[in-house]
Amino acid sequence: MALPMDVHPRAAGDVKTAISILRQQLGDRLQTGEALRRQHAHTLTWLPNQPPDAVLWPLTTAEVQNIVQVAAAHRVPLIPFGAGTSLEGHVNAPHGGLSLDFGRMDQVLAVNDRDLDCIVQPGVSRRKLNEHLRDMGLFFPVDPGAEEATIGGMAATRASGTTAVRYGTMRENVLNVTAVMADGQVVRTARRARKSSAGYDLTKLLVGSEGTLGIMTELTVRLYGIPESIMAAVCPFETLEGAVNAVIQSIQLGLGLARSELVDEILVAAMNAHAKLSLEEKPTLFLEFHGTEVSVRDQIARFEEIARSEGAIRFDWAEREEDRRRLWKARHEGYWAIKSAYPGREALATDVCVPISRLSECILETQADIKAAGLVAAVIGHVGDGNFHTQPMFDMGNPKEVTAIEGFLKRLAERAVAMDGTCTGEHGVGQGKMKYLDAEHGTAGVAAMRAIKQAFDPLGIFNPGKIVTMP
Ligand SMILES: Cc1cc2nc3c(=O)[nH]c(=O)nc-3n(C[C@H](O)[C@H](O)[C@H](O)COP(=O)(O)OP(=O)(O)OC[C@H]3O[C@@H](n4cnc5c(N)ncnc54)[C@H](O)[C@@H]3O)c2cc1C
Repeated sequence: MALPMDVHPRAAGDVKTAISILRQQLGDRLQTGEALRRQHAHTLTWLPNQPPDAVLWPLTTAEVQNIVQVAAAHRVPLIPFGAGTSLEGHVNAPHGGLSLDFGRMDQVLAVNDRDLDCIVQPGVSRRKLNEHLRDMGLFFPVDPGAEEATIGGMAATRASGTTAVRYGTMRENVLNVTAVMADGQVVRTARRARKSSAGYDLTKLLVGSEGTLGIMTELTVRLYGIPESIMAAVCPFETLEGAVNAVIQSIQLGLGLARSELVDEILVAAMNAHAKLSLEEKPTLFLEFHGTEVSVRDQIARFEEIARSEGAIRFDWAEREEDRRRLWKARHEGYWAIKSAYPGREALATDVCVPISRLSECILETQADIKAAGLVAAVIGHVGDGNFHTQPMFDMGNPKEVTAIEGFLKRLAERAVAMDGTCTGEHGVGQGKMKYLDAEHGTAGVAAMRAIKQAFDPLGIFNPGKIVTMP
């Protein structure tokens, strides 16, 4: 499993020279202090913290271009950094190198309200973007839970979250990106047209590439009008299967669920304690409906009917914005709620995704596996997408528990792939899921990915050690 802290083979390149050249150009926008370097490596799960040699804060595309040229000349790795909320070691520097922090490229450059799109720098957070848009009656829907996640980081991990069932993921919502490629050239992957058949789809190739193929310095994303009416609901069920079935049936009937989040009884208990709620400790759906007032009421009535037939215990509706915010805040803080329910233990957030018809089977088998392995793990699902998270709690200092978790994660990924699903629906590959790609894509599929990496980044300087290994 994990490499010990800080033990990483050094890149063949000359990082000292690259730092000294770039320090002259960037001044105090290049830092080498240890605390900062550690904050710019992986901090959230059991993967080790592998810090870069320096952290840089670029301000413009031209500056990024220059940094790439210096890094290429001295064969030094570059690791783009948004907010560091990724969960699979994406921002680690296993070969050392330079972390490119986009925190100072955080501007909304243009809002094209008539076209329902906007152009942003990569470091703008989804929270800041939505604050900027609110008064225009617009919003950007992709919601990975971590409020400070940046649009650049979200695009690079192909993130999604609670609203993907209605609005899609970053894959559907990024119209184009401007990226600095490994040879220092700047590419704009598409125009702002809603669709295009003009050649290979470079936008979709860069979205989800985790900083391994190009460094994004501008993105155009789709926007949506804030719906006239939004209603949220919390709905406990007798069984987890009933909750999942209610969502599947609603989707099959074309009900426009905007969010349909499943929370198991372990997490409900933790949320009650953490957010001072008094929810029934049963498998529970957190729901949201968007539309006109009439259509939302109609959707709710139809959903209630389906849910009752699947064993819903009751419905608590929240119409007022502050009530809805409180509910979703509690849901989004699930990770921290679980952590505080098990003090001193680590929480490992992982995700898989299967076709929705296999979702309850996959969750139930996973819960049986959790029990058989003697683990404690909450299950949280973006049910409408067939995507669910498990969050095993464990003691890092206990090798038996660590081995049990490793076995569980492997079986979870294999189970999802065997059901024609994926080892990650939204968190991405990073370092943690590289070992499952052969099973999912076959060796030929992974070889094709390696050929793409080789063609885009022949020197292997862009976020090395992630997604695919290079010879
Ligand atoms: C509590 C919690 C809940 C979460 N829930 C979800 C969820 O429901 N759904 C979900 O999808 N994710 C979820 N995540 C994961 C996380 O929020 C996402 O991975 C997020 O999209 C990463 O954004 P970031 O700005 O933090 O990027 P970072 O973590 O800084 O970087 C992520 C990757 O993007 C690359 N990158 C960053 N900026 C650029 C750029 N400009 N150009 C090229 N590459 C770049 C980095 O090199 C790295 O590989 C959750 C995380 C936490 C902590």
